[in-house]
This record gives sequence, structure tokens and C-alpha cells, in this order.
Amino acid sequence: MSEYCERPAYTALAKEFGTPLYVYSKADLDEALLAYRSAFSQLNPLICYAVKANGNLSILQYFAGLGCGFDTVSGGEIARVLQAGGSADKIIFSGVGKSEAEMVFALQAGIKCFNVESLPELERLNAVAGRLGKVAPVSLRINPDVDAQTHPYISTGLKANKFGIAMSVAEEAYRYAAALPHVAVTGIDCHIGSQLIALEPLIEACERLLHLTDRLAEQGIALQHIDLGGGVGIVYRDEQQPDLVQYADAVRRLLDGRKLDLILEPGRSLVGNAGVLLTRVEYVKRGEEKNFVIVDAAMNDLMRPALYQAYHAIENAEDKGLPEIVADIVGPVCETGDFLGKDRRIAAEEGDVLIVRSAGAYAASMAGNYNTRCRAAEVWLDGSGARLIRRRETIEDMLANELCCFRQPERDK
Ligand SMILES: *Cc1c(COP(=O)(O)O)cnc(C)c1O
Repeated sequence: MSEYCERPAYTALAKEFGTPLYVYSKADLDEALLAYRSAFSQLNPLICYAVKANGNLSILQYFAGLGCGFDTVSGGEIARVLQAGGSADKIIFSGVGKSEAEMVFALQAGIKCFNVESLPELERLNAVAGRLGKVAPVSLRINPDVDAQTHPYISTGLKANKFGIAMSVAEEAYRYAAALPHVAVTGIDCHIGSQLIALEPLIEACERLLHLTDRLAEQGIALQHIDLGGGVGIVYRDEQQPDLVQYADAVRRLLDGRKLDLILEPGRSLVGNAGVLLTRVEYVKRGEEKNFVIVDAAMNDLMRPALYQAYHAIENAEDKGLPEIVADIVGPVCETGDFLGKDRRIAAEEGDVLIVRSAGAYAASMAGNYNTRCRAAEVWLDGSGARLIRRRETIEDMLANELCCFRQPERDK
């Protein structure tokens, strides 16, 4: 974390913009992107920021301005990138379930590459492109069958996962793709999981993909790029921060002497620690067995603890010298799984602002309206101050698409 945003006036921001509130720091985004750029400088990779980590238009605009491409997983995300001014020829389209309509949209936009995950998808893409009189640039997402050693819900590179084409049939799939008239085979890709702390699985995946690339070259199928996906972990608590320089050096050695462009798709490691979630304490409820600090943010604002038992550091924005208690920090949603932190040492009283750390990735982008809760506002923080980049949702916004299909009963006067 940069000095500047170590302790910005979080309490003042909470007062000005309300809570819950996501706050993103430009300095931290810059630092994270620079870490990639300098580690991989000799390889000059196209860094395709994974939009699903945080798709706010201003954030996309900012990355686009810095020359990044984008990794997307839906037509909606492609539309977001285009609206933010990202160029189509730097958009990668990933995902196991691309619909026909999404393919049409992406082909018409002229994206850089479809990362295809199955043979039926390849067939459909070939047919859709043919109908439009286009040729779709494709990479096949290979499942390298390595264990990413992360939470099972965010592990994607094992045989048992739904993602990618198995290594054992990859060559055959490439030969099949190469013979299709409306797709052009341009690359190879993988993405083995998220929040990876160990680099070995990433490096091993790269090795396996290159081995396959060599066998394909022998058969006359020459690829232009290799895309290693995202997945580099961040520090939420006490994890060992993966060393990007070490990763880059290993990749450089493996790519040495080959004419392959490198693409990376980092999401979490670019934005995760550039954001915090501010939340206000509603009540401190002391129980016989447990204490609860009940706050105004909930699992609909930050789903990671409920979904993956994820840890987020939580602290009081101000040190007022209150006594510490051990408490679960929970939201107002009617689910026992609705917690932001369990058994935390915290000194807080009603009205205090708490900082939930590492909330830049998979927080706002996973937010929903469960319990008919409005989605929170988002703020961009840089040297010139704080700017609203998403206004707080209103109850009217939430109800706007719903229809009352029954006639209203006559009301008593
Ligand atoms: C989610 C995803 C990413 C980004 O993963 P991070 O762990 O956030 O870096 C990259 N590529 C694909 C295909 C993804 O699904």
C-alpha cells in the first residue's frame, strides 16, 4: 500500500458519500500494474485486465488509457469495455458458455481472440462466423491438469473442472480447429485458478502449453501467442506475496528462442489491494457466547467470506482508545453465512466507520440485491481527491424492472 492511501480521511469519505462505500486508490492501481510491467518488461506482454474482478467503467477507462487489453467473460463485459473506450482489438473473450448472440456481438466488434473452451463451442463459433462472413480468431483454452493449490471453488486447471479442453485431446482439437474454414487458430491459453500463492503450478502450466505448442508446430500449426491467464494471488492476511519477477524470469526462460507473443490476464492482483470497503457500525451486540459488531455492509456487498470462507482484514478507521472485544463482524442480511469476519479483535462502537481491506477485486463486481439492499456507491481516489464513479443504487432503481401483474385491490378510503 502506498503511503498516500494508508489512512486517507476514510471517516470523511464515509460521511460525504455514505456507507457502505467502496474506495479505490489510483496510486495502488498504478503500483500493481507497474509491478507487472517491470517484471515482464523484456517480454512486453499484452496485459489483459480481467474485467470480472472489477468492471467499473472508470476503472476500465483508466486501464485502457494505460494501454491494457481486457479479458472478458460475457457480452456484457465486452460492452462495458467498449463503452469505457477500450479497443476491441485488445479484447479476449473467455468463458465456457458463450451464447450465439454473444459470439455475434464479439465478431461484429472485432475482438482480438475467442478463448474457446470446448469442441461444441468451436463448431458453433465456426458456424456463426461463417454466417456473418467473418473469420474468428481463436485460442484453445487447455486444461493443463495442474493443481493450483488454492480454494477448490477458484481452482480451474484440474481434470475435474468444467474449464478448458483436456490435454489428452488438445492436439486433435487443434487439428480440427485448423481445418475449419471460419476460424483462424492464433493462440493457446490456460487459466488454472485464482489467488495462487505458489508460482510452480503457473510455471508448470506454461511448460505444458509450450510442449503442446511444439508438437503443433511440427504438424504445421504455428501459433502466434500464448496466454497464461491470471491467478496471481494477493495478501489478504499473512500470505506470502508471489514474486512476479521470479514468475517473469521463469516464463522468459521458457519462451526464449520462440516467436510467441505473451498475453497475461491478471484481475485480482491488479485491483484487489487497491480497494477497501467502508462500512458503518449499526450496533454492538454483546452475547453470552459471542459478541457481534453489526455493520451496514453485508454479503451482498462482499460475498467472498460467505462464498469461500475468505479472510478480509477489518479495522476501525479511527483509533478512539476504546476497549477491544472479540466479535463476529456481521451484516444485516438474514443468513447465518452473512459475515465479513469471524472472531476478530476489534474496538468499535455504534457509528464508527470500519475499513474492510482488500476489497478491490470480486467485491463490487459480485454485489447483488439480496434482501432488497441497494448496491453501494464506488469512489475513485487520487491526488486531486475523491470522485464518485458509481452512484448509490436507489430503491426505485431496484424495482424499476419489476411488474405488478395483478390489478390492485380497491383500497379502503
Ligand atoms: C477470472 C479469470 C481471470 C482473472 O483471474 P484473477 O485470479 O483475478 O487474476 C483471468 N482469466 C480468466 C479466463 C478468468 O476466468
